Amino acid sequence: MKILVVEDEKKVASFIKRGLEEEGFTVEVAYDGEEGLKMGQDDSFNLILMDLMLPGKDGLEVVRDLREKDVRTPVLCLTAKDKVDDIVSGLDSGSDDYLTKPFAFAELLARVRALVRRGTSERGAELTFADLRLDPVSHKVWRGESEIDLTTKEYALLEYMMRNPNQTLTRSMIAEHVWDYTFDSFTNIIDVYVNYLRKKIDRDFDKKLIHTVRGVGYVLKED
Ligand code: CA
Repeated sequence: MKILVVEDEKKVASFIKRGLEEEGFTVEVAYDGEEGLKMGQDDSFNLILMDLMLPGKDGLEVVRDLREKDVRTPVLCLTAKDKVDDIVSGLDSGSDDYLTKPFAFAELLARVRALVRRGTSERGAELTFADLRLDPVSHKVWRGESEIDLTTKEYALLEYMMRNPNQTLTRSMIAEHVWDYTFDSFTNIIDVYVNYLRKKIDRDFDKKLIHTVRGVGYVLKED
């Protein structure tokens, strides 16, 4: 398992590198955004840890550029700022998860493991629901004839919903299954993601598949 750490603070970078190496990961470090962008295009990385405050090109720009170049590697953003706006723009740029500094190493490790596992597990037969199709091997998704381009987290959310159709999924069920941990104060992130997914899956189609169960959560169903 190979991880790219993009972090300009040398002390923080070496703390993360050492800790992850002790857990058996192979770690490479980029010390600015340009270098991160160059190294991040190597698709042998299983995860990118991206500091947002970088000299020159900032972390969000790097993530956006990587996604534009079709790099699908999961990205975990690290930032000192803990405002919801930053979380939302981080996710909007194509990041998969978010951790605010300072963090406990155990917390970082839990999120790293969740993202790495998500990226490499759950291979198997194609899933279908209504005119949605999802291929767990290639991670491709189609609605009717149109291929739908999803981020790693949007894909994970849709896969969870497609594996549990016609069932109301509460926010805490979604948090546990898609993020692999619980975060009570973070449930707005789930709503943000469901909205991203809706834009891609439902907005341009007459028949809506993702429905809100008010005060409870969401359900994938045909009407
Ligand atoms: Ca920094």
